[in-house]
Amino acid sequence: MSIKKRLILSNLGMIIIPILAFFLIEIGLGLAFFVWQDNNMEEDKLRAFVNYRFLLLLLVVIITNGVLTYLVSRTIIGPIQQLILAAKHIKAGHLDKEVQTSYQGELGELATTFEAMRKSLKEAQDVQKKYETNRRELISSISHDLRTPVTSIKGYVQGVTDGVANTPEKLDRYMTTIGQKTNELERMVDELFLYSKLDLDRVPFHFMPIDIDQFLRDIIDEWAFQYPDIKWEYQIKANVTKTVRADREQLYRAVVNILNNCLKYRHTDALKINIAVEQQGDYLKLMIRDNGIGIAKEALPFIFDQFYRSDESRNSTTGGSGIGLAIVKKIIEAHGGKVYAESEVNQGTAVYFLLKSG
Ligand code: ADP
Repeated sequence: MSIKKRLILSNLGMIIIPILAFFLIEIGLGLAFFVWQDNNMEEDKLRAFVNYRFLLLLLVVIITNGVLTYLVSRTIIGPIQQLILAAKHIKAGHLDKEVQTSYQGELGELATTFEAMRKSLKEAQDVQKKYETNRRELISSISHDLRTPVTSIKGYVQGVTDGVANTPEKLDRYMTTIGQKTNELERMVDELFLYSKLDLDRVPFHFMPIDIDQFLRDIIDEWAFQYPDIKWEYQIKANVTKTVRADREQLYRAVVNILNNCLKYRHTDALKINIAVEQQGDYLKLMIRDNGIGIAKEALPFIFDQFYRSDESRNSTTGGSGIGLAIVKKIIEAHGGKVYAESEVNQGTAVYFLLKSG
């Protein structure tokens, strides 16, 4: 019941109850004084009747007032006090305690709004905590990943200055390794820089219609030339709308990141890469599947997270910063698309892009 209704009812009660009580007192006292005793109306008796009537009526008015005021205030002031307490908890940052919402009328609404506010503040607090943890992990991963090649470059440079590389062949080997490690470092810094730009929405995307069939054939040709031992399979369904609106350079980067992973996580046996395109409603579904080492079920949900590397790849010598797929995800999402993967350990991995066609 709303507060307004409760106040109206209580006020009506304060009027009606004393009126009813007045009639009942009048009748009761009349019976007691004049009918059940004798029927005479002496002056003393009449005065006592009037006094009793006045006292009883006063009592009824006081009790009615007291009881109704107590009842109304209990159902209004009680919840308000609870809400003040809840607001104090929220102010102090204790967002775990639920606000009781089982009140009636406006107070119920107010409590529900309070509870909704507490929940959204709690969500914001959780997101903030997650960001904070992410930031810490990020800094620790970056420093760890950058440290590894730097340490080895330092080691080799020390070797050269100490004269350990004392033959032209040894010197050549040392210098080649230094070159490789420097390239690795440069690639990591570039990836990191790109990822942070994507994260801050600082990469300008130039969307244009792209013939996806031609786009993929060009990539396959380029890669087949560079890696002649890879076996390629390519299918595009006949009903496919071949154009997508995309940023050519960024989409190329996304596909190449996936292909680089096919190379990095290959089995010892011949690498097969299957690329397929099919229509799925308004979207083009692009699949890039390899026959590599695959990804464990527990690791699969995290591979698109920044700096995630599965235990196997962490322990391997393939290198990598765990940022390649996070970049892919950012690029595809900037296209309004989706990316996901399916994988079977020792069988291979398939990465899917959904891109709006037309
Ligand atoms: P990384 O630099 O480690 O390759 P990515 O973000 O590209 O980082 O990939 C994240 C993790 O996902 C990799 O460390 C690897 O464990 C797993 N992964 C990605 N692609 C494949 C694949 N084709 N086959 C097996 N594992 C893969």
